[in-house]
Amino acid sequence: MSNLQIPAALNELNPLSFWDAALGTLARELSPQQFKTWIQPLSLVSYDEGEQSLVLGAPNRFKLDWTKKTFSDRFQEMANQYFGHPITLNFVLNVDGVSPQTQGATALSDVIEPHEVLGTPDTTSTEEQAFEIEDHSKLNPNLTFETFVTGKANQLARAASIQVAHNPGASYNPMFLYGGVGLGKTHLIHAIGNHLLKEKPNARIRYIHAEQYVSDVVRAYQQKAFDRFKRYYHSLDLLLIDDIQFFSGKSRTQEEFFYAFEALLSNKAQVIITSDTYPKEMAGIDDRLISRFDSGLTVAIEPPELEMRVAILMKKALSEGIPISEDVAFFVAKHLRSNVRELEGALRKILAFVRFHGKEVTIDVARVALKDLLSIQNRQISVENIQKAVADFYSIKVADMYSKKRPANIARPRQIAMFMAKELTQKSLPEIGELFGGRDHTTVLHAVRKIGEERSHDGQLNHEIHVIEQTLKS
Ligand code: ADP
Ligand code: MG
Repeated sequence: MSNLQIPAALNELNPLSFWDAALGTLARELSPQQFKTWIQPLSLVSYDEGEQSLVLGAPNRFKLDWTKKTFSDRFQEMANQYFGHPITLNFVLNVDGVSPQTQGATALSDVIEPHEVLGTPDTTSTEEQAFEIEDHSKLNPNLTFETFVTGKANQLARAASIQVAHNPGASYNPMFLYGGVGLGKTHLIHAIGNHLLKEKPNARIRYIHAEQYVSDVVRAYQQKAFDRFKRYYHSLDLLLIDDIQFFSGKSRTQEEFFYAFEALLSNKAQVIITSDTYPKEMAGIDDRLISRFDSGLTVAIEPPELEMRVAILMKKALSEGIPISEDVAFFVAKHLRSNVRELEGALRKILAFVRFHGKEVTIDVARVALKDLLSIQNRQISVENIQKAVADFYSIKVADMYSKKRPANIARPRQIAMFMAKELTQKSLPEIGELFGGRDHTTVLHAVRKIGEERSHDGQLNHEIHVIEQTLKS
């Protein structure tokens, strides 16, 4: 297998850069609220290289229990993946950075201030700054146009984003980007921000999740700091506001945002908004805001088609240092169809499995690594459904699936159906044989091998199987 490569952003394999990477990943995977509540309060307490153990601390018993229950699997997975071998992970109570020490381990708090470990901002003097330095205002440098794979599904959205990144405030203002979860909205708007930042390092750019904006409004309200709040938001060059559906029903937030929006547009500052639906379909949002949202360019981002899913998987695997073959990428992309985040999750599972077991990435390995995911996806597919779908596709009778007839125009679809039964259901070879008119399991095995082998070099057959599968899954 290929060597473990350290993600580009990290230059050495150490617990701190692991912690950085883990926080970065979770910040993307969780909602800002979840991240703030559960992950941000955690600290890296110690790391013992000899024991290969890592201790994470939580500030109170409640957070400790909850974190253990909810996030320990994910931390475990990330640690194994990052260090390239199994790590013993422990959670401890860590009140004010004080915690029982693991013997022989370096206490990181001795060398590093807790806020550095966490990457949270220093408590600073001016309150105006308080609006600026929230964690989530930072652009994620990994989310760029270069790392964004293009296909039919996101072509328009990407083209519009590039246009806006080159001419902010000039062409499409606001730009309203909508689409389902995990399709790349957040990625694209970070890409715009990163691009502008590179071209104009002094530009005042703010990325904010709508939930965070809501809490900023609340805070400004509590601190009677609306003037400063306004001054800050109204002075930006680029405001990227993500998942604006979270404004639903929050009228004070909407009002503040309306003023910010008007001010920014009259300053020729660019506003970019994302949402899960298009403006007119948004519930609980003021009409005047909706009409503003719709006054620039509204563009959709669609679920990725098969080829794009394959390309994304291959690109991501390569950037993780473990390239996967097109076969494996097709296998995964075929089974996981809804969104890119889900694809990334699957790929993470496969790569962790491969790093852990030291195997090559083959379809079989992928199937084992994704067992849980695939069984959910395939739960509704039965051998009977497969027989019917295959018979329909090749225009033969379903009864031919169980019959003893052997002309090629019948035998071959039957073999394809056996192959698909093996691939898409949990049935054993003898069980499948039984369902195909009481055939021997060796007959099934022969069919599975033959079709599997042919499919790997016969594009036409591969396509046919794919089409049948799509009808089964739809
Ligand atoms: P959304 O904001 O629409 O829910 P995200 O932008 O968070 O989706 O995307 C989910 C994950 O998938 C992110 O890790 C993102 O980098 C990745 N992703 C989405 N679309 C693409 C793409 N076209 N190319 C590469 N990665 C993508
Ligand atoms: Mg998003």
